[in-house]
Amino acid sequence: MAVREIVVWPDARLRLETVAVSQIDDRVRQLYEDLKDSMYAENGLGIAALQIGDPTKMFLIEPRLAGRGENDPPLACINPEILWTSEETQESEEGCLSFPDVFVQVERPLKARLRAMDIDGSIYELEGEGLLARCMLHENDHLTGKLLVDFVGPLKRQMIKRKLQKHATRDADL
Ligand SMILES: [Zn+2]
Repeated sequence: MAVREIVVWPDARLRLETVAVSQIDDRVRQLYEDLKDSMYAENGLGIAALQIGDPTKMFLIEPRLAGRGENDPPLACINPEILWTSEETQESEEGCLSFPDVFVQVERPLKARLRAMDIDGSIYELEGEGLLARCMLHENDHLTGKLLVDFVGPLKRQMIKRKLQKHATRDADL
């Protein structure tokens, strides 16, 4: 088990350019395992590789949310592409492992469809509605360097920055 430290904003590593996977090799499989362990350790619904400091174009979705069984492994979304989003939107509070204890109202398409590669190398399409669509779009945003703070105005951004800096200081005190 390799739980890795979650990169917290405003760490610049969250804005690194991501690199596509050309083949599923041991490095990618190890990254998948680390992402899985790190996501479960934080009770996340999804996690992008950049959130543990790795620029690979990949994120995971929690298995039940992805439509799998409780004991199934998380869904790997490698080199994902958003194929379609609905005109209809929904607004909801959103959190992120890289923004501990921060929640932001984000308006997103109600439904989305993506194409990606799973950890076994198979290509699949996944359509989601509601929370699943939100998770797919949120994690996909990570791969393009887009973050929760990009959805808020400058005042709220400053508030979040102060809060997370306090958070970092508190961790350092322990
Ligand atoms: Zn996130």
